[in-house]
Amino acid sequence: MKAVVYHGPGAKSWESVPDPTIEDDTDAIVRVDAVTICGTDLHILKGDVPAVTDGRVLGHEAVGTVEAVGAGVKNVEPGSRVLVSCISACARCRFCRQGRYGACVGGGGWILGHLIDGTQAEYLRVPFADTSTYPVPEGVSDEAILMLADIGPTGYEVGVLNGRVSPGETVAVVGAGPIGLSVMLTAQLYSPGRIIAIDLADARLEAAKRFGATDVINNGREDAVARVMELTDGLGADVAMEAVGVPATFELCTKLVRTGGRVANLGVHGAPATLALEELWIKDVTITTGLVDAYSTADLLRLIVAGRLDVGPFITHRFALGQFMDAYDVFANAGETGALKVVLARDGSSG
Ligand SMILES: [Zn+2]
Ligand SMILES: [Zn+2]
Repeated sequence: MKAVVYHGPGAKSWESVPDPTIEDDTDAIVRVDAVTICGTDLHILKGDVPAVTDGRVLGHEAVGTVEAVGAGVKNVEPGSRVLVSCISACARCRFCRQGRYGACVGGGGWILGHLIDGTQAEYLRVPFADTSTYPVPEGVSDEAILMLADIGPTGYEVGVLNGRVSPGETVAVVGAGPIGLSVMLTAQLYSPGRIIAIDLADARLEAAKRFGATDVINNGREDAVARVMELTDGLGADVAMEAVGVPATFELCTKLVRTGGRVANLGVHGAPATLALEELWIKDVTITTGLVDAYSTADLLRLIVAGRLDVGPFITHRFALGQFMDAYDVFANAGETGALKVVLARDGSSG
C-alpha cells in the first residue's frame, strides 16, 4: 500500500510500505476512506516530536471501513464504517478507568502517527479497536465525522469543558486556527454572552466570525488587553483560552482573565512560559492544561447527527489520497491558502 512516511525533520514522502496486519487480537485493520492533516503533523515534520522516528507513517485522524478484526474484537466487524480517534484506549488501565484515555498507560493514548504507524495511508492497524473507534451513523458524511477525530473533542474538552464556559460569560480565545475555531464553535453549546477572537491574521479573524466570534481583535495592530477590558467593564474575560502554543499567548491569557476566572491552555508548547504569580496570586484564577481524552466524541457525534453542530466550515480543501504532498503544501501555507482543514478521500470527493 501507499502511505505518508516520515524520514526525519523536513522529509516525508508518499511511498510504498508493507500492508498492516493484525498483531494483537484486539486489533482491527481499517481501509482509510477520509483522512486529514493536523498542526501536530507539522510540528513532527519540524523535528519537535523526537519520539517520531524515521520510517513512521504519519497521521492520527481517519474515517474508514473495517477490513479485518482480531479474535478478541466484539463491537466492530468487517464492513463497519468507523471513526478512528486520535486517542487509543486500552480501557483497563488506571487512567482509562477514569476516562483519561489520553493518559492511557496500557499501550494507548496518542500512539497513531507517533509511536506506531498512523492514518495517512491506504490502510492502518487500529489497536484496541473496540474502545478506540466509533461507529459512523448512516446519512452522515465521512468528512463531517472526520472533524471529531481530533479538533472537535480537543476544542470542546480541553477548552470549553476544562474552562467551564457558562451561560452569559465572556470567552476570549487567543489563536483562531482550527483548534481555536473548534473552541468558538463548541463554546456556543453553553451560550456565552460574548466570544472574543484574538489573532494576528485578519483572514483567521474573518473565519472566527463564521465560527461564532462576536468580537475580533488583531493583536498585531491593537492592544488586546485594553480592548478586552473595554468589552468587559474593566474586569477581564471570564475564561481565556490559549490555542497557539507559544509563551506570549499564554502570558496574554493570564492578563485577559478576570479575578476568579479561568485560563484553559490548549496549545502544544515547546518552550517555558512565564507565570506572573506576583500578579496572579491575589486573583483567584484557575489554570488548566491537558491533552484531549476524547471522552466526548460520542456526544459530539450525536450533536452532528441532530443537526446541532455544523463542522462543515472547517473543510476548506479537498484532495484524493494520492495528492498528499500537495495537501501538505496547502495546509502548511495556511496564511496564503486560507486552509483550515484539508480532507483527502479515497474516492477523491470525501462525500
Ligand atoms: Zn491532531
Ligand atoms: Zn489505558
